[in-house]
Amino acid sequence: MEFDLIDIIRARTSIARADVVRGIGDDAALLAPPAGHELAVAIDTLVEGVHFLAGTAPADIGWKSLAVNLSDLAAMGATPAWAVLSLTLPRADRAFVEGFVDGFVQLAQRYQLALVGGDTTCGPLSVSVAVHGFVPAGQGLLRNAAQVGDRLFVTGTLGDAAAALHCHLDRDGTGVPPALHARMVRPEPRVAAGQALRGLAHAAIDVSDGLLADLAHVCAASGTGACIEVARMPCSPALVSRFGVDAARGYALSGGDDYELCFSIPADRVAAATAALERVGCPATRIGSMVESGGIHVYDEQGGDITPQRRGWEHFAA
Ligand code: ADP
Ligand code: MG
Repeated sequence: MEFDLIDIIRARTSIARADVVRGIGDDAALLAPPAGHELAVAIDTLVEGVHFLAGTAPADIGWKSLAVNLSDLAAMGATPAWAVLSLTLPRADRAFVEGFVDGFVQLAQRYQLALVGGDTTCGPLSVSVAVHGFVPAGQGLLRNAAQVGDRLFVTGTLGDAAAALHCHLDRDGTGVPPALHARMVRPEPRVAAGQALRGLAHAAIDVSDGLLADLAHVCAASGTGACIEVARMPCSPALVSRFGVDAARGYALSGGDDYELCFSIPADRVAAATAALERVGCPATRIGSMVESGGIHVYDEQGGDITPQRRGWEHFAA
C-alpha cells in the first residue's frame, strides 16, 4: 500500500533536473549542488487542526506545505532546487495523495523544483516538507545584519490570512471574503523578491508568525530596535472593507500566516531595491525604521505609542 502511494507521488512529480543524480527510489537521493554556492535548507511541518483546518482540500494542503518552505528560502535570498516530503496519513487514501501532490506540483513547477525523496507513514494527518536551495556563497540574507538607521519594508499586504482564519472560526454566518480565503489556503512565497534583494537588503525574514513577532527575531539577532508607523501598514482593500482600518492594522501587525518578506535596507539602496522588486512584480512598502535597541514600537499619526500587547502566534503559549 505504502509503495502504491509512493508510486503515485513519483509519477506525478517528475520534474527533470540535471543536478538530481538519483531521485525517488533509492535509499537516499544523490544531489549535485553548483560550485560556489551555499546550500540553504529549511523544513516546516503542517499539522491538521494547527496549520490547516480539518476538511481543507488536499490540493490546498499540498500547495501550502511547499509554499511555507519556499517562503523560508525566499527570506534567505535562495533559489529553490529540491524538496523531500514526509507524509503521515491516517489511512492509505489514494484520492488524498493525488490531490495533495497536484497542489504541491502546481507550485513546484514554477521553480522547476524536484521532489527527490521522502517518507510515508500511518498516523494522524501531518505533512513535513524540507526544501533545499542555493545562494551564491556569502550572499544569503541574514536576520542578524540589520543596522540602526535602516529603512524597514514589507512586501505585499499583511493580515489577510489571519483575518480569513478568524472568519472561518467565528462562523458568524457572513462568510469569508474570497480574497482573504485565497491568502490563507494558497499563500504566494516571495521567492523572486528574496533573490532580487540579495546584495541590497541588510536583513530579511519571512512573516509567518506575525510581523511583530518575526521582526522581534531580526531585532534580537541584530541588536537593534524598530519603530513602525501604523498608518504606513499595507492592508488589502478586501481586509479593510470587511473589518475597518483599525482591525485591519491589528491583523497586519500580529496576525501571521502572511508569507511576505520583511527587510531592512540602508537609505541609499532603497531606490535600487524598489526598482529590483518592481522588475519581479513585487510591491513593497516602507513601514518604519531600525533604531537603537529598546524593542519594537508602533506609533499612530499623532506620534502616540500604540504598540499592541499581542505580537503573534506562539505554538507553546500557555
Ligand atoms: P527506506 O525504507 O529505504 O527509507 P522507503 O520505502 O521509505 O525507503 O522509500 C522508498 C523510496 O521512496 C525512497 O527513495 C524515498 O525517498 C521515497 N519516498 C517515500 N515516501 C515518499 C514521499 N512521501 N514523497 C517522496 N518520496 C518518497
Ligand atoms: Mg524511509
